[in-house]
Amino acid sequence: MNRSISSLVLFVSLFIALNSNAQQAKPVSAPSAAGSAENNSVFDGQTWWNYVKVLADDKLEGRDTGSRGEHTAEEYAVKQLKAAGAQPAGVNGFYQPVKFVSRQIVEKDCSLALVKDGKREPLILGQDAIISTRVMPAAEVSAPLVFAGYGLKIPEQNYDDFSDIDVKGKLVVILSGSPSEVPSALASHYQTGSERWKTLKAAGALGMISIPNPASMDVPWARISLNRAHPTMDLDYPEFNETAGEQLVAVINPASADKLFEGSGHTFAELAALGKDRKPLPRFPLTVSLEAKTKVDTQKVESSNVVAVLPGSDSDLKNEYVVLSAHIDHVGIGAPVNGDRIYNGAMDNGSGSALLLDMAASFKKHPEKLRRSLLLVLVTGEEKGLLGSKYFAAHPTVPAKSMVADVNEDMFLPIVPLKVLTVYGLAESDVGDRVREAAQEFGVPVQPDPQPLRNVFIRSDQYNFIKHGVPSVMVDVSFEPGSPEQQIFKDWLTNRYHAPSDDVNQPVNLETAAKFEDIIRTVLVNLADTTARPEWKQDSFFRRYATGE
Ligand SMILES: [Zn+2]
Repeated sequence: MNRSISSLVLFVSLFIALNSNAQQAKPVSAPSAAGSAENNSVFDGQTWWNYVKVLADDKLEGRDTGSRGEHTAEEYAVKQLKAAGAQPAGVNGFYQPVKFVSRQIVEKDCSLALVKDGKREPLILGQDAIISTRVMPAAEVSAPLVFAGYGLKIPEQNYDDFSDIDVKGKLVVILSGSPSEVPSALASHYQTGSERWKTLKAAGALGMISIPNPASMDVPWARISLNRAHPTMDLDYPEFNETAGEQLVAVINPASADKLFEGSGHTFAELAALGKDRKPLPRFPLTVSLEAKTKVDTQKVESSNVVAVLPGSDSDLKNEYVVLSAHIDHVGIGAPVNGDRIYNGAMDNGSGSALLLDMAASFKKHPEKLRRSLLLVLVTGEEKGLLGSKYFAAHPTVPAKSMVADVNEDMFLPIVPLKVLTVYGLAESDVGDRVREAAQEFGVPVQPDPQPLRNVFIRSDQYNFIKHGVPSVMVDVSFEPGSPEQQIFKDWLTNRYHAPSDDVNQPVNLETAAKFEDIIRTVLVNLADTTARPEWKQDSFFRRYATGE
């Protein structure tokens, strides 16, 4: 899953130690499936785990976008897809090349300082603040600051944080998150970097300083800060430059945020308490200005998406595609944690890539007549901001209108017994209904996003399909709010998410993985075989991308 959006916008548990003390148990083996779903059971968990073990091996060095390790992972995936009888559906065989520009902060030549009454107070980079390279920053920026609450303008809800403040020529300070009256999918949409910049630009602002909402930080500040020198990437094509003109994006450590509010009559504790419960936030000018000097090195990087097809059997419907997508890249080699520098990404997203390969193999082992074709898309650059899928959705290797649905799998986390699934986008299209039906066959209930503040709906590749009108969902193993499993997931995010310990030595539940795959397979078969195309719900916000309204 993509953290950069989250590291700009949101976050969990600041105070939990970096050292993982979770037990290093071996995976439990899967007993044979039982109950009503027995006949539908195709997977055993072990074949899935075998793929994960290859993709998350230290030799693949964390599969950073454009790296040797990622290339090796893709070669391996292509070999497996060929063995499963899938046909190439990229541009060069299975591959669709994608060009990137990488940006790395040269921190020794950068500075941030707060200025008040002619007095400069430097912010310590890493400790107090981070300059984001997601946007190419201007070399020098000096501007007054204004606090704009959540910094959102949502016409559908008549919500506007900019209606009563002047942000012209200023840097806008925001608390990440959204007010509770805004539905989570809509809130997520308006918190993407490109939507935020549209709003800020229209209001005349120069850039954004975000303060993570301590109530929803996925990764503690110490870990975010640790990897701030890691390069970011962008697609290297003019058509994708959505932040042109944005002069600065920076993130302030919540623990240092009070420095911004001095003399404003407000404290960060007061604002964070409101943000925690998604209550309305005040907006007000700040008494300090910000001076920024930045230096960023850029470099060209090349990578590829991998695209394969299992052709459908129906003479007409085979020209339509059900997409199964997963990102194969991860974050590579980074700052060491407990002496380990390789961020293996076993769950993120070795797990989803493995599911895709396992799924392809299952259709060879258990042939099933699929009426529509199944398009298997392993994307690159997800961790850099959903970039491979952004490129693919804009330049699909099959006709754009022929993609009837996307089921995306990213970090589905089979780490607890399977009691409930979360379906991101459950209420948005009837793909959600098909997932509900399929899960029911296996006795598993589904629920919508239980933690809307984490913005998961926009944090993985399904979002780019959605923006091109394709009804999409992402499905995860989940927990019921308030259950003991909730703590297991929270600990996982704190200790292993985007950390070197997301590796093959962590405990996983192969029985859950198998059942999960069975459910996803049932969904895919349903989508491929039901004559009616999936549709957006009439009241879905995202329907506009399909209808162009
Ligand atoms: Zn990730």
